[in-house]
Amino acid sequence: TNTTIGFIGLGNMGGGMAANLVKAGYSVHAFDLSKTALDAAVAAGCVAVNNAVEAASANIVVTMLPAGKHVRQVYAEALVANAKPGTLLIDCSTIDVASARAVAELAVGAGLVAVDAPVSGGIAAANGGTLTFMVGGPADGFARAEPILAAMGKTIIHAGAAGAGQAAKICNNMLLGATMIATCEAFALAEKLGLDLQTFYDISSKASGQSWSMTSYCPVPGPVPASPANRDFEGGFQAALMLKDLKLAVEAAQGVNASVPMGSNAAALYQAFVGLGSGSKDFSAIIKLLDGRLTQ
Ligand code: NAD
Repeated sequence: TNTTIGFIGLGNMGGGMAANLVKAGYSVHAFDLSKTALDAAVAAGCVAVNNAVEAASANIVVTMLPAGKHVRQVYAEALVANAKPGTLLIDCSTIDVASARAVAELAVGAGLVAVDAPVSGGIAAANGGTLTFMVGGPADGFARAEPILAAMGKTIIHAGAAGAGQAAKICNNMLLGATMIATCEAFALAEKLGLDLQTFYDISSKASGQSWSMTSYCPVPGPVPASPANRDFEGGFQAALMLKDLKLAVEAAQGVNASVPMGSNAAALYQAFVGLGSGSKDFSAIIKLLDGRLTQ
């Protein structure tokens, strides 16, 4: 294909995603502030460019950056002024809804097409090309982004207008954080009440307490052999990233006067857990805070 794709942010997630675009036949013009990250992208077949302005001359530009401030900076200082009219900008970072809407407005004002397309799925899904993308933006932007995203993921859903992808992502992860904590509480209590945990699982996974946190990601070893609890909570979805998403959800809720007491409590508990030095553990390890193995 003759389509060139600029790719800015080649970290844990962006590195694998850019490599999958190369595998799909795109010419990928890659940039990262980190030389190590850029070298790895070149080894995967990307063409290194010197800065974000150079990446902006591609037909499509993907960003995969840490937070809203980085995305605002790259859009304001490099992309919006230098991309050719009609260029499609796809931001895959997880950022606050307000920043997502602000950069989309900036891009549209300059004659560009912008979508927010945050992902669900971690580093393994980024490397394997099996991410889920939740996309916010106009229908024509979604239609153009879809084949590009399909090279990096397996499920691509149009969530609505600008910012809707970020809104869907943080609402989903707020629900996930809260159900995980509730599931951990229930297992910790079941144990103290003398229940066999496999037996409790067999009952609750078939009863109304069932959730993804229980049946796909059970926080105790045994019932779900693939869950991180079976490997001392290594790998998986880091608690620090769950905390990031919960903070974004609480911040978004404050902005629209939404009541999120469970989300706020989940954020506070993950803050405590990360504060105890457990941020790099899988997020289901918060059971250690609830069953007394870790004390505050
Ligand atoms: P990361 O820190 O590994 O990578 C970010 C990269 O951006 C780094 O290589 C950094 O050098 C680069 N960068 C920062 N500012 C830059 C700039 N101005 N110009 C160019 N490069 C710049 O982070 P990650 O784990 O890849 O996560 C990226 C995004 O994806 C985050 O928003 C995160 O919340 C989200 N996310 C991560 C995961 C995960 O499991 N890691 C899962 C889902 C979503």
